[in-house]
Amino acid sequence: MNIMYHSTRNNDVKLTASQAVLKGLADDGGLFVPDTLPVFDKSFDELKEMDYKGVAYEVMKLFLTDYTQEELKGCIERAYDDKFDTKEIAPLKEAGGAYYLELFHGSTIAFKDMALSILPHLMTTAAKKNDLKEEIVILTATSGDTGKAALAGFADVPGTRIAVFYPKHGVSKVQERQMVTQKGKNVTVIGIEGNFDDAQTGVKKMFNDEALKAELKDAGFVFSSANSINIGRLVPQVVYYVYAYTRLLKDGVIKAGEKINVCVPTGNFGNILAAYYAKCAGLPVNKLICASNSNRVLYDFFKSGSYDKLHEMDDNGAFSKDRSFILTGSPSMDILISSNLERLIYHIAGDDDKKDRQLMEDLKDKGAYDISDDMKARLSDFCGGFASEEDTASKIAGLYKDAGYVIDPHTAVAGFVYDAYRKETADETKTVIASTASPYKFAKTVMCAIDKKHASADDMDLIGELNKISGVKVPQAIEDIISAPVLHDIVCETEDMPKEVRKFLR
Ligand SMILES: *Cc1c(COP(=O)(O)O)cnc(C)c1O
Repeated sequence: MNIMYHSTRNNDVKLTASQAVLKGLADDGGLFVPDTLPVFDKSFDELKEMDYKGVAYEVMKLFLTDYTQEELKGCIERAYDDKFDTKEIAPLKEAGGAYYLELFHGSTIAFKDMALSILPHLMTTAAKKNDLKEEIVILTATSGDTGKAALAGFADVPGTRIAVFYPKHGVSKVQERQMVTQKGKNVTVIGIEGNFDDAQTGVKKMFNDEALKAELKDAGFVFSSANSINIGRLVPQVVYYVYAYTRLLKDGVIKAGEKINVCVPTGNFGNILAAYYAKCAGLPVNKLICASNSNRVLYDFFKSGSYDKLHEMDDNGAFSKDRSFILTGSPSMDILISSNLERLIYHIAGDDDKKDRQLMEDLKDKGAYDISDDMKARLSDFCGGFASEEDTASKIAGLYKDAGYVIDPHTAVAGFVYDAYRKETADETKTVIASTASPYKFAKTVMCAIDKKHASADDMDLIGELNKISGVKVPQAIEDIISAPVLHDIVCETEDMPKEVRKFLR
């Protein structure tokens, strides 16, 4: 079956998968969605005998139908190679009554590598297929991890350039160092005086700035996106949920057809949306548990059916309190405008582009929207939870104490939310928790959670301590930044982002 893509805000414009990958975001500001959500054509019995690359092919071919078998297999071969420090690519570890799916074994030690090690290949293949004449300029907003993973993926890839915008005061030390030390002739890294939402809004504005786009087209450039708004980011993320299921099956943890829960630490709603697409394709999933940190806008949404970036819900279900953007120890989830939720909204509205457009206008104009009761009923696959900073620290410390297993703060948000869910519902379904970053990326937050005596040390000082207690080898990504020189030091105001892009391309 050939699957075409269209905007969540307009059902009429049809693109092939490779065209949607190239374009990133639709001209009307909507996100590309498949005309129909595909269904697996292989049994889990067959899939469980395959390795990661084999499963990746079987899943991705269902979505990216205009790529030939040879093209897609070529992309997969080049992506999931020894850039990953384990042959399994995404190992599962049982600890504390859950199965942690470790998605951080790629070169930048966060789960963004799972998709960003293949996106450049999907994109350059798409450029060839579609006879693209212009050079592709990747504009990326990052809450900390996407930036480095995208830089690593696109550095020195012929026919591409990449500009990354990050909140200057909103990422961890290690995250910032990883980005500002990035080598490559085609890369730039820019700090902005604002938070992630400001960076993301600024990037989206440039995508929809017709004058800027025309000017750059004349100079031989087109924009694309490496954020999870790009369908080429989302599709590779569907793979690891299927892979995790097949490993549980193979290990005899679950029986054929048995349902699992999936719990995902969530920011921009990309990772958990991929799990939803896996479920729609036939993965036996009971609940999709959406875990937020103190920026709990998604928790409030799943509870109430109202998405309100300006106000927080109180115990009576009223949005009575002002909501502020909170900087937490899980910075990659410090987000109040979760872009990919738009795709879910579109699907639960019955693929209604007009409804979607109206709600997104409400969000833009009033900072909030409410969904109908019908739409709410279709959210029954999901449930939301959140973890405060203390909750997160207690999960890190508790799991270390009980199981000797050290997790990063993002993963700990999910771990805490899962424990609370299990206690409240008594649901004993086996549960996979997406483990989204290596604890080495957030050494200070992790070590302080385990022992307050580390409060005055900094991230780099604590690498050795973390190594001692976890017994896990220091990843190459950390070794790499210890002595690397800083190559990028631009900082700008949000409104000057287009100016910086012009400078970069000149
Ligand atoms: C990006 C990120 C998240 C959030 O993922 P979304 O797809 O934006 O919901 C969670 N944890 C880590 C470590 C991340 O880098």
